[in-house]
Amino acid sequence: MELPDFLGFEDFNRVRSRMGAERLGAFEFFDPRLHLTADERVRLAGGIEAGWSVLRCLHDYTLAYKNSRVLLWVQVAGTDPEAQIYHLAYCRTLQKLRRERPEQRLGLGTRLPDTDTWPKRVCASCLQQLQFQGYDAARTRHRNYSERVLEDFDLEAFFRQYPVYPLASKVLLALDSVG
Ligand SMILES: [Zn+2]
Repeated sequence: MELPDFLGFEDFNRVRSRMGAERLGAFEFFDPRLHLTADERVRLAGGIEAGWSVLRCLHDYTLAYKNSRVLLWVQVAGTDPEAQIYHLAYCRTLQKLRRERPEQRLGLGTRLPDTDTWPKRVCASCLQQLQFQGYDAARTRHRNYSERVLEDFDLEAFFRQYPVYPLASKVLLALDSVG
């Protein structure tokens, strides 16, 4: 069925201009494979457990679960150094982990979980991958600066630069999952 072109419909245009709605905006049909429900967004904020197959790596190397950017931590007990950090990008450490532990369960969230324990520290390899705020540990003369970026890292500032939600479906559809 072909819909009439409402853009040429004078009454609508008058209402639109009276509302001050100059831009037409975009509308996407809800697709449960791509779009988080309101419930899922709440759960994701608190942290969920998932496997590699739900994870996408965006073109800027940040991580996405459905149409939300996420941070990732690995739920390993004990003193595994992997348990101490959280990731924001599909960094080298994470790529290695994906190869070595394809069955690994992952913690995904849009903020850090409310626990006093780990993970507390952002992954340096992620900052390197993103060149976040000019972070580059490979440049010796730059090292003090890079160490400061790592020490002063602020998750809120990160998400201001890389907005959490919503990611465009056409971007997501062009990407495979990392699993
Ligand atoms: Zn990382």
